[in-house]
Amino acid sequence: MNILVINCGSSSLKFQLIDAGTEKLIAKGLCERIGIDGSQITYAPAGGEKQVTITPMKDHTDAIRLVLNSLMDEKTGVVKKLDEIGAVGHRIVHGGENFASSTVITDEVIKAIEECNDLAPLHNPANLIGIAACRELMPETPMVAVFDTAFHQTMPEEAYLYGIPYEYYEKYKVRRYGFHGTSHSYVSHQAAKLLGKGYEDLKLIVCHLGNGASVSAVKKGKCVDTSMGLTPLEGLIMGTRSGDIDPAIVEFLCNKEQKSVGEILSELNKKSGVLGLSGGFSSDFRDLEDEFQKGSEFAVRTMNAFAYRVAKYIGAYTAAMNGVDAICFTAGLGENSGFIREKICAYLGYLGITLDAEANSKRGVEIDITTPDSRTRVLVIPTNEELSIARETYALVK
Ligand code: AMP
Repeated sequence: MNILVINCGSSSLKFQLIDAGTEKLIAKGLCERIGIDGSQITYAPAGGEKQVTITPMKDHTDAIRLVLNSLMDEKTGVVKKLDEIGAVGHRIVHGGENFASSTVITDEVIKAIEECNDLAPLHNPANLIGIAACRELMPETPMVAVFDTAFHQTMPEEAYLYGIPYEYYEKYKVRRYGFHGTSHSYVSHQAAKLLGKGYEDLKLIVCHLGNGASVSAVKKGKCVDTSMGLTPLEGLIMGTRSGDIDPAIVEFLCNKEQKSVGEILSELNKKSGVLGLSGGFSSDFRDLEDEFQKGSEFAVRTMNAFAYRVAKYIGAYTAAMNGVDAICFTAGLGENSGFIREKICAYLGYLGITLDAEANSKRGVEIDITTPDSRTRVLVIPTNEELSIARETYALVK
């Protein structure tokens, strides 16, 4: 069965068509500037040439119509009729406490997703628009919602509660939710396969290190803690996000800089992290790695602070699980940078880790980068959130 995976933002829409049986990508693409002048669709059949078409898209329904036309195009299309798309899997950012797993979309499910809009005001409404557009154009096709937060719903109370008045949890559901769930789920399952062990027999720490970054602790097949919180601002130092800070800094800076809470929060989201620490040099880790090698002071302090924060979380999660069998690196930085993996692992002598330098220099493959005598395994696992969504969707509709 072919599954169409949709990841819908407020003015963009990414899509992939995946054969659920072989797990092979059939085609993928992106609609940009939906509802804005200069909108365009990029479409690429697997193994074929990428085509970029500038064309008006007044709304998401227009965008989905163009996606379906591209997939069914006589010359470059990959399917002949709509019914060759067996189901649609929608990425939904926030499922709150309503969703601990993926679910087939019904009117009730849409209402329950709407109830979570407050928790992700930029993302959930856009995700819902994508669902509405697909339902309009493909009314007979089953649809599944796959949530970024669902994988982390197994966290115990002591991990998800904040030390604030309990009534805020009761009234507003203020608690840790965690994000990147499809990635943490995919990578932890792949890790068990790579290790040749049962998923439920392992203690794993997954480090999703990309522009957004988060760590999760997965014990016996269940997420028991994760670094992102009510929103994706908490946790690691990220490309432009601060990660953990003393909350009193917000008021302190408002007073010193004569700025509003909204302005400071915008800075914490968009101008902080690696970008902020490097004095505005770059949010791209490649640029900073180059500068680090040249010994630039701003790059040294930034990369050191980044790696230290990851190592600190690994220590905390090792304690939370009373041990760890394998640490998994994934996403743009985690998959590609042997430098940062080595820098993080340098803190982990207490886990008896010895890296295999040659394996650590490889890219784009699932690989164990430790020597055979290493007491704890360290794995690199390229993430595949779309495949994870396609698997979840297929499991519910086949
Ligand atoms: P993602 O959000 O997963 O797409 O990851 C994006 C981040 O990965 C960017 O900050 C990139 O700089 C970083 N990245 C991608 N490739 C490399 C690489 N070869 N070396 C270091 N960082 C990389």
